[in-house]
Amino acid sequence: MNYDIIIIGAGPGGIFSAYELNKLDPSLKIAVFEAGHALSKRRCPIDGEKIKSCISCKSCSIMSGFGGAGAFSDGKYNITNDFGGTLHEYIGKKQALDLMHYVDEINMRFGGEGTRLYSTAGTRFKTLCIQHDLHLLDASVRHLGTDINYIVLENLYAHLKDKVSFFFDTPVQNVRIIDGGYEVVCKDAVYTCAKCIISVGRSGSKWMETVCRDLDIPTKSNRVDIGVRVELPAAVFAHLTDELYESKIVYRTEKYGDRVRTFCMNPKGAVVTENTNGIITVNGHSYEDPARQTENTNFALLVAKHFSEPFKDSNGYGESIARLSNMLGGGVIVQRFGDLIRGRRSTPSRIEESFTTATLNATPGDLSLVLPKRILDGIIEMIYALDKVAPGTANDDTLLYGVEVKFYNMEVAVSEKLESRYEGLYVIGDGSGITHSLSHASASGVHVARSIVG
Ligand SMILES: Cc1cc2nc3c(=O)[nH]c(=O)nc-3n(C[C@H](O)[C@H](O)[C@H](O)COP(=O)(O)OP(=O)(O)OC[C@H]3O[C@@H](n4cnc5c(N)ncnc54)[C@H](O)[C@@H]3O)c2cc1C
Repeated sequence: MNYDIIIIGAGPGGIFSAYELNKLDPSLKIAVFEAGHALSKRRCPIDGEKIKSCISCKSCSIMSGFGGAGAFSDGKYNITNDFGGTLHEYIGKKQALDLMHYVDEINMRFGGEGTRLYSTAGTRFKTLCIQHDLHLLDASVRHLGTDINYIVLENLYAHLKDKVSFFFDTPVQNVRIIDGGYEVVCKDAVYTCAKCIISVGRSGSKWMETVCRDLDIPTKSNRVDIGVRVELPAAVFAHLTDELYESKIVYRTEKYGDRVRTFCMNPKGAVVTENTNGIITVNGHSYEDPARQTENTNFALLVAKHFSEPFKDSNGYGESIARLSNMLGGGVIVQRFGDLIRGRRSTPSRIEESFTTATLNATPGDLSLVLPKRILDGIIEMIYALDKVAPGTANDDTLLYGVEVKFYNMEVAVSEKLESRYEGLYVIGDGSGITHSLSHASASGVHVARSIVG
């Protein structure tokens, strides 16, 4: 065998598997194959001047490369079993939380020291929310910020680079079963290993599907979250964000009984685009460095859509809606809340006159032509509900960007060791469908390393 262990994907799942494997047994020969670039070479060409929107690079630097989808993220490590994945269903609640704390300790040692850990526990906001039929979820949130998150990744890479063989710009095409292990097939070479950890995240979801199909590994998929990114003056949410940083608030709509939730809150942050398999959706981030902060806060409002038989392609449904916004707006559409409820499109001049200055150069348009009525009604209901705990949310000038889609990878059948039906073939992180966050994906990497070495 060329290697004892090959890890496919250098996102948080892959990085933390490599870190823990090397720590537990430095004699292990480990290789990491990554479709994207090394961290220092990751650069999104959008500069806001010459290149204003996504040009669909062959390898998207936002989603791929050392650090994975998390590299330029806001670096919010939510330490909780309430959201971010269902790892606890496989390994137990206490074990999952212990692993997330362990990941936090490592992040602190590798450059994160001094960053704030926020907590919702025992805050007065829980009461305020419940009084208005809003539910604030429990979590501790370590906010590294985009800048410190990057430094932590740089330091982790410096620590690992002489201990682990990294192959960047090397997408794995196929995984084959051989006697005593696995063959990892790349464009120009084939590598062998005794054990293989697949950690390909969201960007590797289509590839993961083909691997599961080829190897007959059972999967299931029935959920997608669809919604908008809300942008408003930071002052509107300051009482919540100053104390909690991120508040995950859930609301059940009166009209349909659907669940709408806030997601990925970025105080004083910026709205950004995201390219998933060639489809442009919206996201957001923020910086710890005050010099890079904006006047606005942004967060997503997502409606969870679960499908029942016979429909199976929940991600395809989300993609079709995102494509519709790309078709109408050439990318992301922005609309003032006031225009949406008056049933008219936003125009460039209406956006220009708005008291809230947009941080993303999106196309003014009409989200009601894109989002299904049930989803749009849910979002509008939630905005009015949030207005009661954060007055100003339902202002005319609140900006809504669409669409934001939270795709869920199909869930791959794995054991409590995160091992597939094949001995020594593990599937972890967001690519397994079990995790949807930095802390859960990282924790799954540590868990799999301990299962292998322990
Ligand atoms: C803009 C943005 C902001 C975010 N902000 C947050 C946040 O603040 N907090 C939070 O908890 N989560 C956040 N997330 C989500 C978080 O980044 C992911 O949950 C996390 O990165 C998942 O880790 P992972 O290792 O499972 O997968 P990924 O990070 O997606 O890494 C997988 C890696 O595998 C590589 N790969 C894919 N296919 C192949 C192949 N065939 N061969 C070789 N390599 C392959 C990819 O290039 C990628 O680098 C954000 C995501 C984005 C896009």
